[in-house]
Amino acid sequence: MHELSLADGILKTVLQAAEKEGATKIKSIKIEMGEILLVNAEQLTFCFDVISKDTIAEGAELDITYLKPRVLCNKCRKEFEIVSDNDLPILSMICECGSNDLTVLSGREFNIKSMKIEED
Ligand SMILES: [Zn+2]
Repeated sequence: MHELSLADGILKTVLQAAEKEGATKIKSIKIEMGEILLVNAEQLTFCFDVISKDTIAEGAELDITYLKPRVLCNKCRKEFEIVSDNDLPILSMICECGSNDLTVLSGREFNIKSMKIEED
């Protein structure tokens, strides 16, 4: 499952970082991710809650920001940002010129930006 492996990656990364900082508790984690990844935030949070049990990240809040994907139309060479409020923006994308021959320039990012911790 997509969300579970992402949650696992987040947990490993923040636990490592927290250890370096001498943190006793991780309170929240700020994450940026591209919409094209089609990650379900609720599922990601659920998975994270489950696997972070009995670690210092237990109960940490995931603060997720979605990044809008940018695409390039291969027909008219127009570059634009996909603006959408539904779940599957890229799959049904068509350029203004009517072409669906699009190259994704960005929107696959997955970054852990920062985290809030408690220290001794
Ligand atoms: Zn076009």
